[in-house]
Amino acid sequence: ATPMSIMVGVGRGARAGVLIRDAESLQRLEQVDTVVIDKTGTLTEGRPRVTRIHATGAATGELGEDELLRLVAGLEQGSEHPLAEGIVAEARERGLDLPEASDFDAENGKGVTGRVDGKTVLVGNRTLMEGHDIDTKTLEGSATSWRHEGATVISVAVDGQPAGLLAIADPIRESTADAVHRLQRAGLEVVMLTGDSEETARAVARQLDIDQVRANVLPEGKSEVVERMRSEGRVVAMAGDGVNDAPALAAADVGIAMGSGTDVAIESAGITLLRGDLDGLVQAHRLSKATMRNIR
Ligand code: ADP
Ligand code: MG
Repeated sequence: ATPMSIMVGVGRGARAGVLIRDAESLQRLEQVDTVVIDKTGTLTEGRPRVTRIHATGAATGELGEDELLRLVAGLEQGSEHPLAEGIVAEARERGLDLPEASDFDAENGKGVTGRVDGKTVLVGNRTLMEGHDIDTKTLEGSATSWRHEGATVISVAVDGQPAGLLAIADPIRESTADAVHRLQRAGLEVVMLTGDSEETARAVARQLDIDQVRANVLPEGKSEVVERMRSEGRVVAMAGDGVNDAPALAAADVGIAMGSGTDVAIESAGITLLRGDLDGLVQAHRLSKATMRNIR
């Protein structure tokens, strides 16, 4: 390859907000046939908000909505997950004063546990609840309908009993649908990859005309998905923003980080989209095609 054309490409990229750290990424992007995209923070804004709370004990005078949220937010203060930030923000807006948690533990890709106000509190997905032998049947009713609306549903257990559910919604970025359509029109297969539930993932994918969805993927599983696709002969670009996306970004033929994402993701990627939206991915792909055409 002519270094000159590549350098011109890198310069043009920089002006368009596409930071190319590794020139080979620009060369390889042209060959990509599959684009794997993380959901939360990449397809969506990464600013999740609590939209609904269901406290199972409210009717019996046990834990009401605000009391439940107070415990959950107290615990989530120890987490750096975007979902945790949304929960803590909601509690603050309601003027709740948050208790300190002790014995805090984060189970990667599942949720958090700890002691709050003398109670044992678990907050997370179905896998977390199952792992702690919590019977979530009483919670599943509203969970299913909320998931079909595209919300992430978080279960809460207090002292070993199911105590409630939170629906958390993260809006799809304004530019995402158009970017996905352009990538598809350019002949690329777009695949959504997420740790979220199948139902929530499908509901979001449907709005974007994405029909390939890999859901319930634990953080360590994301890079395995990318590696498996590569071993099937696909040339894979992976786009993501989170700490949990970093190994998959490194495993892909081309790793693409959102500029709004975590440092670990940016360091693991050959390309960073400074504007933090997927329009940059469309631009990077076009730039790669144009650059390689110049070289030939
Ligand atoms: P994603 O790929 O959507 O970024 P993660 O692997 O980070 O997902 O998390 C997967 C799931 O684990 C989340 O959808 C959520 O249900 C649960 N989870 C993870 N961290 C937390 C947390 N701090 N509080 C509550 N739930 C969590
Ligand atoms: Mg993410």
